[in-house]
Formats: sequence, C-alpha cells, structure tokens
Amino acid sequence: MKWHEILIRYGEISTKGKNRNQFINRLRQNIRYTFQDLEHVSVRSERDRMYVRSNSDSEMETLIERLPGVFGIQSFSPVAECETTIDDMKRLAVEIVKGIDYEGKTFKVNVKRSYKQFEMETYELNREIATHVLSTLPGMVVQMKDPEIELRIEVREDKTNMMVEVIPGAAGLPVGSNGKALLLLSGGIDSPVAAYYMMKRGVRIEAIHFFSPPFTSDQSLGKVKELCEIISRFGGNVRLHIIPFTEIQQTIQQAVPQNVTMTSTRRMMMKISDIVREEIEAKVLVTGENLGQVASQTLESLAAINDVTTTPILRPLITFDKLDIIEVAQRIGTFETSIRPFEDCCTVFTPANPKTKPNVEKMNYYEAFTDFDEMIERAVKNREIHDFPKKKVVDEFAGLL
Ligand code: ATP
Ligand code: MG
Repeated sequence: MKWHEILIRYGEISTKGKNRNQFINRLRQNIRYTFQDLEHVSVRSERDRMYVRSNSDSEMETLIERLPGVFGIQSFSPVAECETTIDDMKRLAVEIVKGIDYEGKTFKVNVKRSYKQFEMETYELNREIATHVLSTLPGMVVQMKDPEIELRIEVREDKTNMMVEVIPGAAGLPVGSNGKALLLLSGGIDSPVAAYYMMKRGVRIEAIHFFSPPFTSDQSLGKVKELCEIISRFGGNVRLHIIPFTEIQQTIQQAVPQNVTMTSTRRMMMKISDIVREEIEAKVLVTGENLGQVASQTLESLAAINDVTTTPILRPLITFDKLDIIEVAQRIGTFETSIRPFEDCCTVFTPANPKTKPNVEKMNYYEAFTDFDEMIERAVKNREIHDFPKKKVVDEFAGLL
C-alpha cells in the first residue's frame, strides 16, 4: 500500500486554551525529533490536526511504526491520494480496504466533497464507491451508524484523499510542555517506568545515577546508559549525571548504626540530587519508589528520606503492584535491560536487618557527627555527564531542551 501522508489528531492538547499553540509547537518539534534520521519528512499543521509526509515509501512505513510512541498524539491515520476521477477513486477504495482485515465487518463510505463542481453529488459518490467495494471484496455488511470500517474520502479539486484506519496514539502531553524533572535512575525495573509516566504528562527528564566503584561495575553503569537511550525514545534527549558515590557510602557505614545505613544512603542521594536539580533548573525530583516493596519504602522511611529537602519528590509508581510495573516495563522496552544482573550501589551495602520505621530526629542526630556536606559538594563537582541519544543529535536539537 502506498501512503502519501499521515493525519495526526491531538486530542487532549487541542483543549488546552491559551497554551494551545505552545503545545502544538512542542508536539511538532517532538515529531521532528523522532524522525530526525529520515531525510524526506515534512510536517505541516492546521488548526486541530497535523500532517506528516515523506515521498519515500520506506520512510512512510517507519513513520507509522514510530508515531505510536510520541506523547501528545491521540490517534493518527495513514492517508492515500488519487486523482479526482471516479475510476481512480474506485480503484483506490478497493486497494485500501483490501489492506485491512475486512471480512465479516460492518462498512460505510463517508464522502466529503469540498470540490462542489465535481460531476457527481455526495450521495451518488457514496453509493457508487460503496457498491464497487462491496462487489469486489465480498463479506462486508453496510451499516450507517458506528460501522467497524469507515472509509473516509475527501474530494478536492486537485486530488482526492482516502483513509480507513484510525491508529491509537500514546495520548498524554508532548514531552517538554510541562517543565523538567530530575529522575533518580537505578539499574532496576521501576525507575525507567517512573520516567515513562512523567514524560507522558509532558515532563522532560534528566537522570541522576549513583555509582560506587569498585563495588558496582562498569557493566551496571552500562545498563543505566542503555536505559537512558531507551527512555530518550519517548520523545526528547535525556542527560545523565553520574555521581561518584563510593566515599559517601563507605563513610555512612561507619557513621550511622548498621540498621539505618540504607535510610541514610537514600537521604544523601536526595541531598545530592537536590543540588543537581537546582543547577539544572528542574522543578522536582522523581523516584521509582513503591510502597512496601522493601524496607526503605515504608511510609516512615519515605518520611525520613523526604526530610532532607523541601523540594517535591514525585513517586509516580507509589501505589502500583509490582506485576503491573513489570508489564509496563515490558511494553515500553526497558524490562530486558533492567533484569540483566547488576550490582546496585544499595544492594551491595544492604544491612542484614534494615530498620523499617526509621525515626527522622534520630537520623538527623546520627548524621550530625560527620561532615557529609563537604563530601557531597565534591561528589557533585566530580560528576560525569552523558547525553542520550548520542552527542551529535543533542547539539542539533539543543533548541528543544
Ligand atoms: P528500581 O527498580 O527503580 O531500582 P526498586 O524497587 O529496586 O526500584 P530501590 O532499589 O530501593 O527500589 O530504589 C528506589 C528508588 O531509589 C529507585 O526507583 C530510584 O529512583 C532510586 N535509586 C536507587 N538506587 C539508585 C542509584 N544507584 N542511583 C540513582 N537512583 C537510585
Ligand atoms: Mg533497585
């Protein structure tokens, strides 16, 4: 099937009032970004829809494959064109319906005739084309109200457009239309899924990872980089900040009682993240935390972690069941990477009996005897920064950040 262009419908963002244009511009930029490696693509927007086209057939196929991943798109339809003659219309109508699973389905032709001088009236066109399709491709039943297959035809003077499929989009809001957040990204299953949900609500993500060599290996760092690469496919580049964390983690082991080292580790992570967050002008912190999975994720524990900053810490997965998180991770393509074996900087130092209900005052007291601030400053200063996808792309699209 040769498609000429793709019609994109916005859904949610078309109702956003004053900010509408900004949302639409952002969506157009994100669509361009997704297709930057294709050479012949052009994007054009009208009031409540957008059109993407390429004169290369293989690029059109790629577009149809990638569009379902772009947030802010409600649905889209591949559109084919023919000349405005009745013979051409009949031929194309059959070709399009033949390409979908039509047998046993209800069917209707819906002609819109913008070219009023055309020799046939709308109702005649509807009947003529429907009759032709039904006789060439038997097995469908005509139904005017809510048919399963609706072949839409727009007759214009210069050409006629036809479409039949309405493919669901990723919905949500275009990435970047709702500010920026800093995500605490481990190599595990949850944090990449948290990133996905934030991006779906239009939030651009930068990531921070705590790395404790030699207790954690380059392979586990490789996983985190790979996860950033995958996350960046949801519409926008992702900058990763890698924090050298060994010194702080080892100091924690000596500074606080064994059963609260985990809580203290999380608190230090938050302090560092908050400094980086301020530097990059992100509004909030995001984690993949989930209630009750592990000792560090009880309400008491979350309260003790939150105590180190007044910055909002968003936890999009807080109420999710693990199996549901896994299902999403599989769907968005992060699962296989996340389950590869790795040493998380936390698991390496996990105490035998972590305290599930740490007390905030006591935590503050334990930590007061050590000058963590100086170590934190050094860790922030010595961080490594990587951009995903590769650097060249980031430069070209720096304007999107
Ligand atoms: P995940 O699957 O995301 O690792 P988890 O259920 O295994 O989550 P934890 O390992 O306790 O839970 O981590 C909770 C959250 O803390 C993570 O989702 C992540 O946001 C953050 N986190 C943990 N370890 C790191 C790390 N090394 N670097 C950055 N963030 C981390
Ligand atoms: Mg983990």
